[in-house]
Amino acid sequence: MESEFVNWLRARVPSHPLVPIGIGDDAALLSLASGKCVVTSDMLMDGVDFVLNDCDPRRIGRKSLAVNLSDLAAMAAKPVAAIVSLAVPTDVSLEVMKMIYEGVLEMADEFGVALAGGDTNSWKHPLAISVTAIGEPTKRGVLMRGGARAGDVILVTGQFGGSILGRHFDFRPRVEEALYLHSRYELHGAMDVSDGLSLDLNRLARESACGAILDASQVPISADAYRLSEQNPAKGSPLDHALGDGEDFELIIATSPETAEQIVADRSFGVPVTRVGEFIADPGLWLRSATGECHPLTPHGYEH
Ligand SMILES: [Mg+2]
Repeated sequence: MESEFVNWLRARVPSHPLVPIGIGDDAALLSLASGKCVVTSDMLMDGVDFVLNDCDPRRIGRKSLAVNLSDLAAMAAKPVAAIVSLAVPTDVSLEVMKMIYEGVLEMADEFGVALAGGDTNSWKHPLAISVTAIGEPTKRGVLMRGGARAGDVILVTGQFGGSILGRHFDFRPRVEEALYLHSRYELHGAMDVSDGLSLDLNRLARESACGAILDASQVPISADAYRLSEQNPAKGSPLDHALGDGEDFELIIATSPETAEQIVADRSFGVPVTRVGEFIADPGLWLRSATGECHPLTPHGYEH
């Protein structure tokens, strides 16, 4: 089955100018002009990140690459190539494996990413898919979590909460947005929200040796967060969902108040950017009410 699959894959994967040697040899050769690369890796597992029997395998493939592209976006790196490795239960058909790769290839095509190689093994355990993505920094270098300064504004892309209703599969990583903003504005730091807005914001603030205040009334709450809260009010308010659900794959950006104002007013791309608070010198995470009172906010979200 493996050789049949590899033959299918070699025929199916398009060539890419930055990957002169790709699938089929012992290793891939990448041709990166800048001489530096940004590398990230993420593994998705059946029963943890998805349920194989309940979803279209293409969505699993799509997501496995998209979560890695989101990490490249957080560093403002241009995606170049991906290495995809799959551990499949022995009872999974070749057809399902192909569908997973179709999902990977769909996402790869959307962002000009080469599928440069990988590995496929079968075993008697649940499906796991591991993707390593390789990107190139731009001339301005990479963005990091440690760059926020006290007095910086907290900006976020998109909306938060309720991704479990479908967006955790079908989100679009903010690659273009990150590259656009990084090329035009002086950004101090960034990260992507994979585990929950409050949890990831707290990580960014700590890495920057700052604290952060979130304005409760400014957090962009998704329609899905309202829907979830309506279905089960005991599980929290729409804001609770927005602060802690995770898998939003939006960006948190730190920048000066002047730059933040220009970015919020910039209508060059479709994704809204919202000011949700500020970084402060004192450590800790705070939620500020519409009347200006600050209360400690316990970071919550998905802990690995
Ligand atoms: Mg990340």
